[in-house]
Amino acid sequence: MTGLGYAPPWSVNAGFVAGRETTLIVDTGANALAAATLHGYASAASGGNRLAVIDTERHFDHIGGNGYFRDRGIDVYGHANIRRTAEEFRAEIDDFNDQIRNPFRRARGEAQVFYHQTRLENPNRPISENTSMDLGNCEIEILLTPGHTPTNLSVWVPRDGVLFSGDCLVNLYLPNLDSGTAIDWQQWLQSLDRIADLAPAVVMPGHGPVARGDEVNRLIASVRDVLRQAIADGRSPTSRAATA
Ligand SMILES: [Zn+2]
Repeated sequence: MTGLGYAPPWSVNAGFVAGRETTLIVDTGANALAAATLHGYASAASGGNRLAVIDTERHFDHIGGNGYFRDRGIDVYGHANIRRTAEEFRAEIDDFNDQIRNPFRRARGEAQVFYHQTRLENPNRPISENTSMDLGNCEIEILLTPGHTPTNLSVWVPRDGVLFSGDCLVNLYLPNLDSGTAIDWQQWLQSLDRIADLAPAVVMPGHGPVARGDEVNRLIASVRDVLRQAIADGRSPTSRAATA
């Protein structure tokens, strides 16, 4: 599902893979309402399947719906180093509220509405290495693809040639390099090499439209170019120093 709500101009993507027994939901959106939408689609599409969830990284736009799923007894897989705190989540909400331009809405704290009934939960099923998972006649691979953050992972569905890349790939948006340094960006390039080797037919990026066929190589190349330029410049294209 593309275009779930987040801080403008960003929307965020999430999706699911249905095997015969298990449906794996990839990312939970930024809030409980996104999670409810995902839960509805995934349940409708796969009948009596057991549901499981995986987070592709630690940022709140990918894990905001975790609490909704944990409240329903659904396991949430994710990188072992996703350990967000209540203080960090409060700071995210405050930051969201600060971006409201209208002073009256800002004063009312309307960011709280976006996060209505949204409860922080970290993954209860930690992952720290490449892992395969059988969803019932559908084997998938969970691949560590660090770079954007050290916790980034991708979900590869060989049967369909589909890759959920998380923010290792973002389409049309400028990738966000501001969570790391040049060391992380080098790792990110290696993650892109691993993804290119898979030769996916379809990529669901963390943000922006789905890429298919020839677009996939163009998408990988576009993120690679931004990373190489940032490494050469010693700064991200969206850092304050770059805009000064
Ligand atoms: Zn993101």
